[in-house]
Amino acid sequence: MRLDKFVCKSTPLSRTEAVQVIHHERVLVNGVAIVDEAAQVHENNHIILDGKHLVPRPFRYLLLHKPANCLSANISEPSKSTKYPSVFDVLNIDNSSELHLVGRLDADTTGLLLATDDGRWSFTITSPNSDCSKVYRVGLAKPLGPEVADKFLAGILLQGEHELTLPAKLEVISPNQVLLTLTQGKFHQVKRMFAAVGNKVVSLHREKIGAISLDVPQGQWRALTEAEVNAMG
Ligand code: URA
Repeated sequence: MRLDKFVCKSTPLSRTEAVQVIHHERVLVNGVAIVDEAAQVHENNHIILDGKHLVPRPFRYLLLHKPANCLSANISEPSKSTKYPSVFDVLNIDNSSELHLVGRLDADTTGLLLATDDGRWSFTITSPNSDCSKVYRVGLAKPLGPEVADKFLAGILLQGEHELTLPAKLEVISPNQVLLTLTQGKFHQVKRMFAAVGNKVVSLHREKIGAISLDVPQGQWRALTEAEVNAMG
């Protein structure tokens, strides 16, 4: 990771303060003062600030219940909308600027989001080769057509795409409500899949990612258990 990030992760300093102490030659990496805040360092390097050995805090892995009308945006990203706050503004999480979201939900979608500061872990979940499943509860404007489940299982062509979607499983709850399980995450995928079969999503809620199920009330969060972290990574 970058040297300034390492300093932030192992001290109470802000990013600006970390850059300052680096520029003032107060940080030694394996005995050498490094003044480039972007220098790459490893946890195994011996890093000292003002004579004190720095040890980074352990990674954090969180489950968030996103309400509607907030954005899946990291605190460090400039807001694209003045209409909605970031989910991190709505949920009360310490040092949330150190975290990033693992995947995204639309502003009007509710449900399960994961957040972490472990880039390697989030990559294993979001990489295109990951077959991590996501389960959505979908409310539909029109009753589900009898042919849709087979179409979704076979894969459908979304507008503007050249390849069929991967097989998706539909479970009917009622004529206007289904559970949909996807193993890929194209932009607006659920809404576009139902649009492709002439229907419209009127409510969308993510219940599950891989082995992790949403189990906290809306607007709240909890740390993942070690077993949950390991099951995903
Ligand atoms: N698919 C969508 O269309 N929207 C989401 O928020 C998530 C999946």
